[in-house]
Amino acid sequence: MRKPRLYPAPRQHGPADDTGDLILNPAHARCGMCGRPLGIATDPLSTDCGGDCWGCIGEAEASGGDRESRTKVDLEIGAGMRNADGTAKPWE
Ligand SMILES: [Zn+2]
Repeated sequence: MRKPRLYPAPRQHGPADDTGDLILNPAHARCGMCGRPLGIATDPLSTDCGGDCWGCIGEAEASGGDRESRTKVDLEIGAGMRNADGTAKPWE
């Protein structure tokens, strides 16, 4: 049995037709900075921050001195979702 495909290649606009897909965003949008698929239920770093993922935005804001983002990023580092420097770990 083949490994399930969690993040299929982006398609032209249209509803997801593979019932096994975990994609919530029907447009299959991806982060403009790193290409991470946005809006994936199982990936907290995939939150759509205006076309970029939280993985990228959180790191940028935290390194820019945003305390709220720094706190959240630190928690995500602790949870193993990010590398120690705050960069997002790959999504697959
Ligand atoms: Zn990103």
